[in-house]
Amino acid sequence: MTPSINADRLWQSILELARIGPTSEGGSCRLALSVEDKEARALLLDWCRPLNLHFEQDAIGNMFLSRKGRMDTAAAVAFGSHLDTVPTGGRFDGTVGVLAGLEVMRTLHDANITTGAPLELVNWTNEEGSRFRPAMMGSRVHAANMSLEAALAITDDEGTSVEAALHDSGQAGALVPSPRGWTCWLELHIEQGPVLEASGADIGIVTGTMHARYFQLMVTGEPSHVGPTTMDRRRDSLAAAAEIILAVERIALAAEPGGRASATWIENYPNARGNVANITRLHCDVRHEQAENAVAMEHELRGVLNAIGLRRGVNIAIDPYASFGPVAFDTRLADLLRDKASMRQLTTRDMIAAAGHDSVLMASLTPSAMLFIPSVGGITHNPREYSTKEQIARGAQILLDAVVELAR
Ligand SMILES: [Zn+2]
Repeated sequence: MTPSINADRLWQSILELARIGPTSEGGSCRLALSVEDKEARALLLDWCRPLNLHFEQDAIGNMFLSRKGRMDTAAAVAFGSHLDTVPTGGRFDGTVGVLAGLEVMRTLHDANITTGAPLELVNWTNEEGSRFRPAMMGSRVHAANMSLEAALAITDDEGTSVEAALHDSGQAGALVPSPRGWTCWLELHIEQGPVLEASGADIGIVTGTMHARYFQLMVTGEPSHVGPTTMDRRRDSLAAAAEIILAVERIALAAEPGGRASATWIENYPNARGNVANITRLHCDVRHEQAENAVAMEHELRGVLNAIGLRRGVNIAIDPYASFGPVAFDTRLADLLRDKASMRQLTTRDMIAAAGHDSVLMASLTPSAMLFIPSVGGITHNPREYSTKEQIARGAQILLDAVVELAR
């Protein structure tokens, strides 16, 4: 039997990390490569110091903390998640995966156990994509899904580039981002939905992900005066955007239960009270459990955009800037996680991840698996996001049990 993780220590670490970038409602805001993200990364390194882990960082800021195995040249078993959050972040999204990985390292250290293969704990840069899009940027670059040069040139809404943010936060490492030859990848994450809690299962075995497609839309009309311009002569980009936002929602409602879609971001020009708007930019996404249905949702969206453009005399340019999935995770790793859960008398449920995760990118490189723990009330990207100490401890224990067996 592998040793037991220290549930209290893990819980305390999560609470301590959550105090970096506190929000008034009790959540955390640590946008990628911000001052707060930098502080959280430094705390992780502090915690790792007594564990004698070897720290390396690549040029996109991904952090790798490796623990020696008995077989020095063997490929590592890797696990982790992300420490960055959305602006309205809770305390558990991503953090649970990184700090459960830390707890794996701590438990093995305390028990004086050296695994056969080395272990590697990872904190991926900019998983959330709130400040710099696209999401999962660090793992994308690592997996050559996006070039380093392209990622470094991306700017936030203030015009700060990823390259400048990496430099300012001291997170531009020396390694050239590239796959590290791991034998497998594991990620523990909160579910961020209501399924596990409703089912009563302790652990979600994630068998795959939805297929999601992200778009930037640029609606171009014509500037005019809000008074003298008669209604029939207006080419109002903001009014067109309003129709688009509702159409996106309708497309998702029609694609339930497997479909989801939302418009999430808007920028309006000139955004002046006396002007009919003439340029409005929007971001939206469509996603579905079945890849072909996500494609059908995109097709429907394009049809709606075309109709709105024609009727309102506005041009709508569509930039499909990112997508993820569908990914099928490794079935043998999923079997192993199921076995480890049942050995601890925990119940499991197979499920599909609706959100993007770094594991999506890892699945293109190495056998990968994810396990979920319940999110109370299914609430996430919200200060009220919550999982109990016990739920987190169960997930971390299964992670440790699986890691020890995989690195035997
Ligand atoms: Zn996450």
